[in-house]
Amino acid sequence: MVISRIGVYFCTQNLINLLVTNVNIVLFTFDNRNIFMNLQETYRTLFLAPIQGRYITLKHIRPLLETNSKIEIVKEGISEKGKEIPVLKIGNGSKNVLAWSQMHGNESTTTKAIFDFLGCIDQEKVFQKEIKTFLSSYTLYIVPILNPDGAEAYTRENANDVDLNRDAKALTQKESRLLNALFTEINPVLCLNLHDQRTIYGLDTNKSATVSFLSPAANIERTVTSARKIAMQYIVGMNHVLQSFIPNQVGRYDDTFNANCVGDSFTAAGVPTILFEAGHYANDYQREKTREFIFYALLELFGILSSEEKINDYKKYFTIPKNKKNFRDVILRNVNLEKGKRSVSIAIQYKEKLIDDKIQFAPYIEEVGDLSNYRGHKEIDINNRDLLINSQKKVNIDEKVLTIHCKNNGKEIIL
Ligand SMILES: [Zn+2]
Repeated sequence: MVISRIGVYFCTQNLINLLVTNVNIVLFTFDNRNIFMNLQETYRTLFLAPIQGRYITLKHIRPLLETNSKIEIVKEGISEKGKEIPVLKIGNGSKNVLAWSQMHGNESTTTKAIFDFLGCIDQEKVFQKEIKTFLSSYTLYIVPILNPDGAEAYTRENANDVDLNRDAKALTQKESRLLNALFTEINPVLCLNLHDQRTIYGLDTNKSATVSFLSPAANIERTVTSARKIAMQYIVGMNHVLQSFIPNQVGRYDDTFNANCVGDSFTAAGVPTILFEAGHYANDYQREKTREFIFYALLELFGILSSEEKINDYKKYFTIPKNKKNFRDVILRNVNLEKGKRSVSIAIQYKEKLIDDKIQFAPYIEEVGDLSNYRGHKEIDINNRDLLINSQKKVNIDEKVLTIHCKNNGKEIIL
């Protein structure tokens, strides 16, 4: 990818600082790939917050709040089940930003990235000039887990089975009212709406949509308002950086207007809002790689990676490929179901289940057919052999896959 000259210059300056302070850094060249390899090494040694996996609750983040010297807890909201919802503040600049994660309780990747970011702000080894500028320019309010009841139960919805991202107008839930009150009190110049997206999302590039962004619509006509333009400019900057790490794996989320969605509602109120969707990266079902990419996006957004403020061309937002639902977790290709008939493909999708405080991924049959429009994160060619799934020839949709056995060659297929 091509990074602008000015972008390279500022990245380079920051990375030089990084080089002289971190012994793990290898030979430095002006090649972009090396610049970002250095950053990845530093990420692992300095910034990676000690929370992992998909199951992230208040219990996991509390210790991190206590040890970070830059965080001030300014408010504790209350969830429908009576859990405290910490609201954090960092910095004391004039630009107020409001960010919230885990509005959908089972979408924890961006929460991990937020704590990587907070850890980066609190360390004293690299990016010191940029961090100082960030802290004096911005006041960043973060609700790391807006839906702690859903986080604990590992559900999208809150304790009353309400999708908080469809409650922006009705405000029937305590969590929705907390976010709305913060929006009014803080009067932000920018909002960050942080989510995960399912593994089904891919792009026309035939790659997984590892990170997707949206500048939500402000009306049914999807007018490109001044608030949307600002959100688009930020997205263009983040996409630019992410292309170095995940080329052709950044997508643009559907912008159909829905007044009940928080991002649409805040954009309609004139405040630039960015939807982040952390998605699937190859073999990364725990989303430890994707959290890293979200972290880099946040560094860029807040001027830490490129220390000089750049005005990006918002129109480039429309060159980011649109999200498509064109992926499945596993596709078995060329399966012989009936003798003499055309072979088919079988799509298998993992269901996430909370078992003993960990998320387990259980494979289920989702679809049988041609499936040539879909790609699998994993594809297995059965080579027109007969297949027994759970020891039977019949393939049942929605059935959990326990065993897959190739009849002709006697082999078990392990997913
Ligand atoms: Zn979500």
